[in-house]
Amino acid sequence: MNLTLSNPTAPVPDVADDGVWLACIECGWTGPPFDQIRYRCPDCDGLLEVRYDDHPTFDDFGERGPKRGVWRYADALPVDSGVSIEEGDTPLYEVPTIEDEVGVSALRVKHEGMNPTGSFKDRGMTLGVRVAQKLGVSRLACASTGNTSAALACYGARAGSEVLVLLPAGKVAAGKVAQASLHGARILEVDGNFDDCLDVVSDLADRGEAYLLNSLNPFRLEGQKTIGLEILEGFRDQTGELPDRIVLPVGNAGNTSALFKAFRELVAAGELAPEEVPTLTGVQAEGAAPMVEAIEEGADEVRRWDEVETVATAIRIGYPVNAPKALPAIRETGGTAVAVSDGEITDAQRALARDGVGVEPASAASVAGLRTLRESGEISADERVVCLTTGHLLKDPDAAAAAGVEPEPVPADTDDVLSLLSR
Ligand SMILES: *Cc1c(COP(=O)(O)O)cnc(C)c1O
Ligand SMILES: [Zn+2]
Repeated sequence: MNLTLSNPTAPVPDVADDGVWLACIECGWTGPPFDQIRYRCPDCDGLLEVRYDDHPTFDDFGERGPKRGVWRYADALPVDSGVSIEEGDTPLYEVPTIEDEVGVSALRVKHEGMNPTGSFKDRGMTLGVRVAQKLGVSRLACASTGNTSAALACYGARAGSEVLVLLPAGKVAAGKVAQASLHGARILEVDGNFDDCLDVVSDLADRGEAYLLNSLNPFRLEGQKTIGLEILEGFRDQTGELPDRIVLPVGNAGNTSALFKAFRELVAAGELAPEEVPTLTGVQAEGAAPMVEAIEEGADEVRRWDEVETVATAIRIGYPVNAPKALPAIRETGGTAVAVSDGEITDAQRALARDGVGVEPASAASVAGLRTLRESGEISADERVVCLTTGHLLKDPDAAAAAGVEPEPVPADTDDVLSLLSR
């Protein structure tokens, strides 16, 4: 494995605030974290990331503040506390049937659907909404395939902030719209796909009309780092070892970027040897696979797919904003990216359900990808693997019902019920 530590040990610049600053991943620009709103580098428009003067070790986690959840990892985050409704601390499930079937040395499923609003987006929002308060902004906004809007609506409500969400009309699963709606967000249904929504909301943010809480926002990714920290701690608790590989669905590639950052910081802290960093393996739907294309072609940039389609609406994304962070994440950990069909996604969703884990279609892409890569031999039988399942089954009730068994009508009569059952 070739893990080049592309940052965390850089000298602390004068602009640091309490040991925290922002840096451009392209040109090295640095700036203070909380003095003004910034989403991209003022010099070169590159992606920004949060940097720290030092990095905590496993022993530091949970020492101060909460023992569990995102804020267990406060020492690895840019603020001490968030707008919190107990996000994180999600289960790391055994899935014996799938483990047997694919044949790996150990398999666990990190079920992020068990967060307060039913997806990992909560981990980013607890932090992002707190930073918004620090910056003194009044209106929070995002473009979303659904889960970001559900999480922002919920955390924004909790913070007493105005929330605006832009959704691709007709392409958001029912549970997610219902959440945004009940939590009181203003919901704009855009005649376009997710990437169009992001273009519009980015313009609004640039014009100072709203604070952007898409994963372009570097603070959100800091919260999502805690997925990686929990996976390592949880896997070691259960098996005594660290996982070799993490397989995850990829949309805007925020998680891919965030997990890599979590691991690089553990390497910088001396907690993880570079060769212990899990191999990051991204999975996309065939109908929305620009990252897979870039990895296969060895390209430095992803090509924007204008037409995208998949049953996995959460990853129905044609231009992953975090690709400049995520391509190195995959390459430098020795990982790969793979596309799976909608049929394979639905099959994997059923397989997870048989092991008692209910997920939305995008989440099942991870298991579908694992199956594909085991068949091709890319993943070997001696590997310890974690699949990330990103959202809950109830997020997309229509997809679940379509993938599941048909209800059977029957009269309210025991004999009729028995005769139906004996058929
Ligand atoms: C947001 C989301 C994704 C995509 O995550 P990225 O970090 O943007 O790659 C995948 N699955 C679900 C359920 C999501 O809500
Ligand atoms: Zn720059």
